[in-house]
Amino acid sequence: MIVTGSERRISELCSSWRKEGLTVGLVPTMGALHEGHLSLVEIAAASSDRVVVSIFINPTQFGPGEDLEMYPRSIDDDCRAVEALGAFAVFTPDVNTVYPDDFSTEVHVAGVSQGLCGTARPGHFDGVATICTILFGIVKPDLAVFGMKDAQQLAVIRRMVTDLRLEIEIVAAPIVREPDGLAMSSRNKYLSAELREEASLIHGGLFAARQLALTGEKDCSLLRKAFIDHLRKAHMLSVQYAETVDPYTMLKIDKIENRVLLAVAVFAGTTRLIDNILIEPEV
Ligand code: AMP
Repeated sequence: MIVTGSERRISELCSSWRKEGLTVGLVPTMGALHEGHLSLVEIAAASSDRVVVSIFINPTQFGPGEDLEMYPRSIDDDCRAVEALGAFAVFTPDVNTVYPDDFSTEVHVAGVSQGLCGTARPGHFDGVATICTILFGIVKPDLAVFGMKDAQQLAVIRRMVTDLRLEIEIVAAPIVREPDGLAMSSRNKYLSAELREEASLIHGGLFAARQLALTGEKDCSLLRKAFIDHLRKAHMLSVQYAETVDPYTMLKIDKIENRVLLAVAVFAGTTRLIDNILIEPEV
């Protein structure tokens, strides 16, 4: 497996594969890989001939006071893990090459990037859309895999790829959870044992809300309430948002008629965790 920070090297490699008629799958990550990320690599490997994993802690998607400096790093373990799954290359660009001094572009995807994390983390999705556009330009993948854990990010990337006619298939990967239900996240490392235990209530709350919908409840305000009530057992969790939205447009939904995404952000102490669940109406 090739590990390189060189844009030129990775772009030449990918173009040589394409010339041979091979398809390229990209998995963009910020590293500190866990089984959630690795499931994306497996999906990419099953659906393309050559998998490229990018590892880049993208500063433009972090807001002031967020955890950019302390974000976990484990590049050697990450490379070993993705190589074992059949990745052909890991792209680890340097921040100054990605964003040279005269870099002047920002990609803004309107609508879908508003609300939820877009409100809680102003500018976050501009950073995400910009780095993904750069990575797509360098790798020119046939497909790219994104996790449903970051549901709004997935919706933003889908909208952007459609609007800009990028001809990249965006593949959505299911959320991978710890045995107690907590969605895997690089940020789970920040949690103390007490916070870690309480954090599993997030998943319990999402499933409680879905259960309510399965009993026939259509009023989304009651689903949101079921989630919030479930978290009242916790002492160190505070809900930043719990919204019911359309999974593609991220527009708010008040009554279940089609699929609804219950998307939440919860502070466990100072660590911000996001999670979500898809709720399908009974047929
Ligand atoms: P990150 O390194 O946090 O930027 O995440 C890179 C990719 O991994 C994104 O597409 C995430 O949605 C995805 N991802 C992160 N955690 C999980 C998880 N628990 N299950 C599935 N995908 C995930």
